[in-house]
Amino acid sequence: MDIRELIGKKMLYFDGGLGSLLQAQGLQPGEEPERWNLEHPDIIENVHFSYYQVGCHIVTTDSLGCNELNFPDEGAYSVESIAKAAVDNARRARARADELDGGAEPRFIAFSIGSLGRLLKPLGTMPFEEAYNVFARTVRAATAAGADILLFETINDLYEVKAAVLAAKENSELPVFVTMTYDAGGRLMTGGDVPGEAALLEGLGVDAFGLNCGLGPAQMKPIALNMLEYASKPVIVNPNAGLPTTVNGRTVYSVGPEEFAEVMEEMVKAGVWIAGGCCGTTPAHMAAMIERCKNISHVPLTKKNRSLVCGTSKTVEIGPEPVIIGERINPTGKKKFKEALRNHDIEYIVREGIKQQDSGAHVLDVNVGLPEIDETQMMADVVYELQSVIGLPLQIDTTNPKTMEKALRLYNGKALINSVNGKQSVMAQIFPLVKKYGGVVLALCLD
Ligand SMILES: [Zn+2]
Repeated sequence: MDIRELIGKKMLYFDGGLGSLLQAQGLQPGEEPERWNLEHPDIIENVHFSYYQVGCHIVTTDSLGCNELNFPDEGAYSVESIAKAAVDNARRARARADELDGGAEPRFIAFSIGSLGRLLKPLGTMPFEEAYNVFARTVRAATAAGADILLFETINDLYEVKAAVLAAKENSELPVFVTMTYDAGGRLMTGGDVPGEAALLEGLGVDAFGLNCGLGPAQMKPIALNMLEYASKPVIVNPNAGLPTTVNGRTVYSVGPEEFAEVMEEMVKAGVWIAGGCCGTTPAHMAAMIERCKNISHVPLTKKNRSLVCGTSKTVEIGPEPVIIGERINPTGKKKFKEALRNHDIEYIVREGIKQQDSGAHVLDVNVGLPEIDETQMMADVVYELQSVIGLPLQIDTTNPKTMEKALRLYNGKALINSVNGKQSVMAQIFPLVKKYGGVVLALCLD
């Protein structure tokens, strides 16, 4: 069964933590848990089975770090062999659970894919397309291994998530789930926020998204409630068993199953459709949560119809208040700007952007079209440089579909798209790009 037929209609439960259960069975600090899929398959299978047994619908494979940066060797511990073993372990657990109850509940295997642990350019050193390639290999391995869902989790940067989701969409037909990790103030490490996650991920067409790790249920609750204001897709909440403390050199999570379940019940009542746990949570936590949520009448999923655009750290909603769009990055009628374009003077262009940001613009238009320059390359360069210093959303302004696609692909966030008119040929070129990359369309009424 395809889980897309169930999400938002049936309450679904993720499993809980894996790492602390493995540590209890001898996993050493610093040891890569993904290796245990091959070295201790029975232990991994038993952990998965214990989650299926208490009523979890989705178990998460032991593959968070299964990528070619962590596993560069092509031998026994290649990305592909780990992926295969990880899915096989979950599959055996599922067969056992199905045999016990005749498959009374639907059971799925989510292939866990975590952060690459490196910041993308321009904040860090890894190029966007390189991150894409690393994710793409893991995606292909997970798909070939027979996973049911691609789950990107514990990622705390919107740009990395965009590379991951594009890699998933372009290399697999599997459903895509994403959970991101916030601080207690509701911010991602690189400045993104809840509406930004909703805007970006719905724009990219993921099937369900939300939050995991970093916080306990009580700290995560206000962030989850905020997410429910923006998300039209089912929201996932997988908190830790509280905040970690260190006792005798061991990491301990203090929130017990009943306390965990109580807060989870409140979030499910508020509209969360997919719930589970992360670090420190156990089958007992999941059992308590599932028991408590048994008789909730769920809030139906509704379309929020909010027009959101986001940049690297700022989300703007179009509708409630006037939105001011700075139009200084546009050669029309500007001699100096045209000269800057001809001389590839990006610094001048970025300064124009900063000036407008300082003057209170909410969104910046970016138009670099001049007949005598390579518009696509210039657009790529300008978007990249602007986004390295400016958090505001950008409005990609071009009549060239090739330029538009390049800009939308490397854009960090969900852009405003300027523009389409009612011409069939224009709509036919631009709308598929909007569907693929997300975006809010600004339409011109010319005639
Ligand atoms: Zn966690």
